[in-house]
Amino acid sequence: MCGYLSCLKRTGMDRADLSFILNHLGEDREAGYRAVVPPIVQSGNFTYPNVAGLRAAMRQEFDRPVYTRGANPTVTMVRRKLAALEHAEDALLFGSGSAAMAAGILGFVKAGDHIVCVKKPYSWTAKLLGHLLPRFNVETDFIDGTNPENFRKAARPNTRMFITESPNSVTFELQDLRAVAAIAKERGILTLCDNSYSSPLFQNPIDLGIDLVAHSGTKYLNGHSDVVCGVLAGSREHIRQVMAGEFMTLGAIPSPHDAWLVMRGLRTLELRAHRSADSAEKVARFLEAHPKVKQVNWPFLESFPQHGLAKRQMKRCAGLMSIRVAAADVAAVERFCDTLQRFLLAVSWGGYESLQFPTAAVVDPAAPSGELPWDLVRLYVGLEDPEVLMRDLDQALAKV
Ligand SMILES: *Cc1c(COP(=O)(O)O)cnc(C)c1O
Repeated sequence: MCGYLSCLKRTGMDRADLSFILNHLGEDREAGYRAVVPPIVQSGNFTYPNVAGLRAAMRQEFDRPVYTRGANPTVTMVRRKLAALEHAEDALLFGSGSAAMAAGILGFVKAGDHIVCVKKPYSWTAKLLGHLLPRFNVETDFIDGTNPENFRKAARPNTRMFITESPNSVTFELQDLRAVAAIAKERGILTLCDNSYSSPLFQNPIDLGIDLVAHSGTKYLNGHSDVVCGVLAGSREHIRQVMAGEFMTLGAIPSPHDAWLVMRGLRTLELRAHRSADSAEKVARFLEAHPKVKQVNWPFLESFPQHGLAKRQMKRCAGLMSIRVAAADVAAVERFCDTLQRFLLAVSWGGYESLQFPTAAVVDPAAPSGELPWDLVRLYVGLEDPEVLMRDLDQALAKV
């Protein structure tokens, strides 16, 4: 198998050559019948011609295929690409983004430790930190991450990790990742960033000093709404530690077929991510100027409170945004949502199809949680013609 760095050396390409990573890195034609598309190695276990061969493979169980819960050639190929995309030494592919977050956190804490996490992280990250880990005496403080000093203030002698999610996927608050990483380094605290929103194309937290990067590969990386998977990327040492521990024991692996679908999705990542970002900008500006829209949350709009930081830290802004509809009541928000033709009512995002998700579907307007307003609707701008999407939004807003 062609290692990331040796491949780059051999071909004289630098790591900025995205198309090489997406289309060629990690693919070994000699091992796959010289097929142009690498075959799916749909096998649970692997055999060796003699005891010496098996012994040698067992000694390098994390690199050589022995059993697919550990290493599978199709999965390994995708791991190489994902590590290179995140400027990381290594990466693991999981059966979901939540599994990647769980392994990335469980791998580095023990009973008695403390974690500092941004408030309003992804819902199942909040569940892990707020409900599951306290059972094992690991405590988390959720803080306003828009000011990096809040991480310093919340840190205690037993703080092991800072968990960031910049931006988050509902209201898009950012953290200054470079500043947070610097505060962590002073104290020997490990940093993890959920980078699902930006994908490795638009933000690379490791370049800003973050130790571990997690993704829901379900979103842009696979990009076709047909696989749930996750990624954890970091130094060789950190990834090896998680692999030998939580990856192997929890066993939340993707199937070789799912890994192959992710690889197929990666072929068009660059095209898809830029198309979605281009269209999102048009849609965000259209919505901002619309009289039936009170607020548009999208970090690259000049009106966004952390616009300056977003421009500094992110190369581009992705296709996910939220709006507050200028509605008198929840019924008017529902009319808007039910009238939309081109935005499917569904969770998740990052696929080819535009989506909508109203807060009203989960927040009881009679008992507001104070966290999310009832008039908030999350919109994901997919690969459709943006003019068609804007026409659709306009006719639905007329019903508010
Ligand atoms: C979807 C998502 C996750 C969880 O990923 P799954 O693949 O659904 O488990 C985590 N973080 C963010 C920001 C997400 O959008």
